Amino acid sequence: MKRSGFAWTLFFVAAFAAGVTAASPAAAGPADPTSSLVAGAWSAERRQEVLDKTLTVRLAPDLSALTAGELQAVEELLAVGEIMQRLYEDANHRQAAEVRRALAVAPAVGPAEGLEAAAVEELRTLYRLFEGPVATTLDNRREPFVAVDPPVPGRNVYPWGIERGEVEAFLATHPERRAEILGERTVVRRATAENLAADRAGFAASPALRQLHPGLEERLAALAAAPDPAVLYAVPQALAWTAELAEAQRRLFRAADAVEGDDPEFARYLRNRGRDLLSNDYESGDASWVTGRFGRLNAQIGSYETYDDALYGVKAFPSLSLLVRDEAATAELVRALGGIQEIEDALPYEAHKRVRADVPLGVYEVVADFGQARGTNTATILPNDPLFSRRYGRTILLRGNVMTHPELFAIADREWRAAVAPAFADALAPEGGFHRTLWHEIGHYLGVDRTADGRPLDQALQGWADALEEMKADLVSLFSHHRLHAAGAIGDERLAAVRASGVLRTLQDNRPRADQPYQTMQLAQLNYFLDRGLLTVDGDGRLVLHPELYDATATDLLRTVLALQAAGEPERAAAFFARWTGWTDEVHEPLAARLREAQGPRYRLVRYGALGE
Ligand SMILES: [Zn+2]
Repeated sequence: MKRSGFAWTLFFVAAFAAGVTAASPAAAGPADPTSSLVAGAWSAERRQEVLDKTLTVRLAPDLSALTAGELQAVEELLAVGEIMQRLYEDANHRQAAEVRRALAVAPAVGPAEGLEAAAVEELRTLYRLFEGPVATTLDNRREPFVAVDPPVPGRNVYPWGIERGEVEAFLATHPERRAEILGERTVVRRATAENLAADRAGFAASPALRQLHPGLEERLAALAAAPDPAVLYAVPQALAWTAELAEAQRRLFRAADAVEGDDPEFARYLRNRGRDLLSNDYESGDASWVTGRFGRLNAQIGSYETYDDALYGVKAFPSLSLLVRDEAATAELVRALGGIQEIEDALPYEAHKRVRADVPLGVYEVVADFGQARGTNTATILPNDPLFSRRYGRTILLRGNVMTHPELFAIADREWRAAVAPAFADALAPEGGFHRTLWHEIGHYLGVDRTADGRPLDQALQGWADALEEMKADLVSLFSHHRLHAAGAIGDERLAAVRASGVLRTLQDNRPRADQPYQTMQLAQLNYFLDRGLLTVDGDGRLVLHPELYDATATDLLRTVLALQAAGEPERAAAFFARWTGWTDEVHEPLAARLREAQGPRYRLVRYGALGE
């Protein structure tokens, strides 16, 4: 992240430019951070509109069984999490740090100055909820709630506001730079004197980077000899976020020391990952993470998921999840996992592969999540890197205290009842969501993992890669349950619950934006299910299920998705999603309206006991 100068000037100028009346300079002073910030912020009504629709979920697993060393490691890992949180916010918006600081120091100013402590507190909650200054509105638009620049697709990991056309034009004349510019863990800049000076200073601050990135300092020096904002260059995250990642590395080493005696394999993983953060190469950490046999603690650490990159869908954003294992639930799942190779061999595509029989899988309680990992997602499977996952496998982390959270299931059940005809109202059950999600994660393990001609899926399919991969995983889950049921491994009740969960999964409370891969692929499933008659709409506009068509419909769609992945042609993927993401006033809009009415809280604000919340 670039560190900018006088933050408050920006707010003041932005508020002034927007024609907003700032607080009286005599009362608050023109450089007062709070006055300009709040002056340009959402009105009380707009803040309340979102806060009224926010459910607060608190996660606070019991840590009393941990040893003193494990507890010390928890403290260090939470501190690394806070670093990842700030980096994530900064990677999303170039003014996030300014807003964060302003809200942290904002004094409780009385109404006489035109500001209220309550307003500042609400802005803090919004910032926490949206992990930065850009809200998702009730009608699903991204809009700042304080006076900052509107969001841009490339967020803050490309030059601010750059368009794809400019990147493409640069890559056309500099094809040798493609891998670096579109690298998963690089930050792209314009070759200005200021940018280059800031990046070159990183080598002085962290001399290890010279050893780990040979030649890079010289390249930046060469660019600095003739600065040109039309020239793009990329630096590894290790250099873009030098001080933060160096601090994270030190703390990971300290955490490793603390658990060395109780959990030596976890300690080794933490040290590997600490080094990875400086080398910008995650292989050692990923290998020791996925293949390690850990004690009670586990942690996802670093930049993995690319959902926030709405320009190319290739940049991974910082995250950390700290987890503690549920031993009994994990043992039960491992037993249930028997015939995973048989499922792979039955999938509707040609080039079947060998899958590891000992999938590293665990049920965990979330202690705290940071950055990209923060929220109520129910499971994680990593790493995404096709080479690493082929070599070492992928670890599956099921987030038990999120999956079974009673308030979250109650919302899902209300939505379900609002969407379907009365005959199906009781079909949803918590076990359906749990097992569908489990097999969704296993689904990432199975099927196509690179194009037929050997290219990585994310680079081949670019912006469509995430939507297709998530859709594959959803459909493999449905496919697997039908196979398990046919083999007698699960009963009718389990299958019915998974089927209901699979339909609920596709329902949308708003028309998805193109930059929302999950929602986009869910809508595509819904439309396909409707087209094939697996779902029909009754006279009241409610959904009717035709379970006898479920297996064939899901399998045919899975065949199509696997073929799109194997082909690796973004144009074909675009045509597929154009065909299947239609939105009509007759079916989709009334259904969405009923879901919105039924769901109650739209947003989920997660608080963590481990953070003193
Ligand atoms: Zn997934």
